[in-house]
Amino acid sequence: MLTKIINQANIDLFGEWLKETEKIVIVTHVSPDGDAMGSSLGLYHFLISQNKTVNIIVPNAFPEFLKWMPGAKNIMLYDKSKEIADKLIADADMICCLDFNGLKRIEGMGNAVKEAKARKVMVDHHPFPDDICSIVMSHPEISSTSELVFRLISRLGYFDEITKEGAECIYTGMMTDTGSFTYNSNSQEIYYIISQLISKGIDKDDINRNVYNTYSECRLRLMGYVLHTKMKVYPEHHAAMISLTQDELKEFSYVKGDSEGFVNIPLSIKDVKFSVFFREDTDMIKISLRSVGEFPCNKFASEFFGGGGHLNASGGEFYGTMQEAIDTFEQALDKYKPLLTTNN
Ligand code: 5GP
Ligand code: MN
Repeated sequence: MLTKIINQANIDLFGEWLKETEKIVIVTHVSPDGDAMGSSLGLYHFLISQNKTVNIIVPNAFPEFLKWMPGAKNIMLYDKSKEIADKLIADADMICCLDFNGLKRIEGMGNAVKEAKARKVMVDHHPFPDDICSIVMSHPEISSTSELVFRLISRLGYFDEITKEGAECIYTGMMTDTGSFTYNSNSQEIYYIISQLISKGIDKDDINRNVYNTYSECRLRLMGYVLHTKMKVYPEHHAAMISLTQDELKEFSYVKGDSEGFVNIPLSIKDVKFSVFFREDTDMIKISLRSVGEFPCNKFASEFFGGGGHLNASGGEFYGTMQEAIDTFEQALDKYKPLLTTNN
């Protein structure tokens, strides 16, 4: 029923490797989001059903609103358990790299993964994958890595082995990487897959509540402050920008995840089609970029902020002061003005 997106040779080879594999490590990108977690845990639940020894190792903490995910408690944080993690990575027979396209995206873990003797597999939907895995299932046309994990398991002939827990994780990733199916979500097959996941007993309404309606009071007040005071709109550029310094974050008792989704809000203003959010971290400024339509966030992110990502959702970093970051952004906006003001 589903189009065969992943090529057969990759499916066959992965199936063969699986038979010869005992110890598997799953890794995903720094500051794991819903899709990083959903794809990793979705694959994890399947692999443990096949009696494999599986460890998910992520570079650093994931947000509070994903802690309910089945299996999340078993995830190892590399920055907290480096020694054990290094050993698991070095001893693995197979390493599955999910939802990232280059070692830079797993930060401190990069070297351990690079040096590991394990067979390496990439399942991802970011463009331009680096040459770090022998099997590369890279499909930027698919809106989430979690969807790719569903396709992979199904094509291997194991749809029946997908558990309710695994289905919940896959659904979470599909939902979060499409903004609850409001962008990158016009493929009919997404909805076919959702119906398949519902057949496993998931409650998609519950998942939506777990992810989006369990925030703290502090987050809501921070959001109010951002929208009232910190959002700058550039009508002539069809763009908007939000910035938050460490001092401001502290004032609102910020915890990781509290600013999740802020970058999307300005896109609800008529004619704004590009939105950027700067959040001051301890050693750099983290940047999130979002667009609607054809405007290439990833090109903008890579040209000015050493980053990348998807056409409509990208990220990057800036090493300098907040003011310098904003100045860079405003100059970049002028450069990109023709592109922002065409295809209206
Ligand atoms: P977010 O804004 O949610 O952190 O990231 C949005 C998208 O951009 C994600 O698909 C993520 O993989 C990508 N991304 C975020 N930060 C970076 C970065 O520093 N470098 C690159 N290459 N991609 C990033
Ligand atoms: Mn993703």
